[in-house]
Amino acid sequence: MSLQPHLPDTMIMENWPLSQLTTLGTGGTAEFFAQPETVSQLQEIIRLARNIPVYIIGGGSNIIIPDGKIPGLTISARKLDTLSWRGNFTAEIGAGLSLPGLVKTLRDMRLGGLEFAAGIPGTLGGGISGNAGAGGHGVCEYVDSVNAVDSSGNLVALGRGDFTYGYRYCGISGVIIASSVMSWDGSPWSEDVYSSFMARRKSQPLGFRSAGCTFKNPEGYSAGKLLDECGCKGLRIGGAVVSDVHANFILNTGNAASHDVTELAELCAKRVYDYTGIMLETEIKTLSPCFSVQ
Ligand SMILES: Cc1cc2nc3c(=O)[nH]c(=O)nc-3n(C[C@H](O)[C@H](O)[C@H](O)COP(=O)(O)OP(=O)(O)OC[C@H]3O[C@@H](n4cnc5c(N)ncnc54)[C@H](O)[C@@H]3O)c2cc1C
Repeated sequence: MSLQPHLPDTMIMENWPLSQLTTLGTGGTAEFFAQPETVSQLQEIIRLARNIPVYIIGGGSNIIIPDGKIPGLTISARKLDTLSWRGNFTAEIGAGLSLPGLVKTLRDMRLGGLEFAAGIPGTLGGGISGNAGAGGHGVCEYVDSVNAVDSSGNLVALGRGDFTYGYRYCGISGVIIASSVMSWDGSPWSEDVYSSFMARRKSQPLGFRSAGCTFKNPEGYSAGKLLDECGCKGLRIGGAVVSDVHANFILNTGNAASHDVTELAELCAKRVYDYTGIMLETEIKTLSPCFSVQ
């Protein structure tokens, strides 16, 4: 990868530790790492990259970064955290804005809609990518359009008709989400609904490093309940352990490697399959290239 003289020296780092950028706190080192502060910088960085895979991370709260060296360019979207209102109920929001920050802003404004997102960590970009949510709702419900950057560094505008979304997925792939236009219908914020979603968090392990729920709920089942019934609580590999509080959470007890977490998840999935015949699908993503630049 060659660097152009007009880019700030600090824009592209080498051998950058990625574990510190994840809530799980595991994983290896990026060969190249960049944290653009503007969409133009993001485009420029991608245009500079040659023949390497490009990865994108947001808040790192739903991701396992493999151990060892990650060849290619890893980009953090966190500094793309702008928010600008276009009228009372519509805003263009940078992919790096924290979802808790957005929820707080809406709560302060008494503008209802995202109460269900109470307590979900991460960024808006990660939230759109996995349609983060709870109680049958997801953030994509409020997305009008997405501005993304493709493998040539070009801006792509995606309207509601250009992608489909559902339970923990959004049909946007092969691009980096740079920002999104979101709108609300003006309904008032419900503190009761917000508090009820916040209260659900009490069933989750607090104060430990994790990447949230390991598995999606299979249709008609709770993954946590299945894992619990199959005796997964307390299973351990290396520094990774299945939470005693909520079996769908794998915790880093301090010295876990990513392969400990992955192997433990595989062990749990196998156990549930052997006991019930139900194949669990992981909700946590493993870092994989968004695209490769030529
Ligand atoms: C304690 C805890 C509780 C949680 N509770 C919930 C919950 O209730 N509901 C829920 O849905 N999730 C929950 N999560 C998981 C997580 O917070 C969400 O999935 C969140 O939306 C992930 O956002 P992120 O920015 O951290 O994404 P990351 O973890 O950084 O990335 C996740 C995926 O999104 C992709 N991505 C990130 N940014 C972009 C971008 N700009 N463009 C394109 N792709 C991108 C990444 O490549 C990766 O594939 C929880 C996690 C924790 C740790």
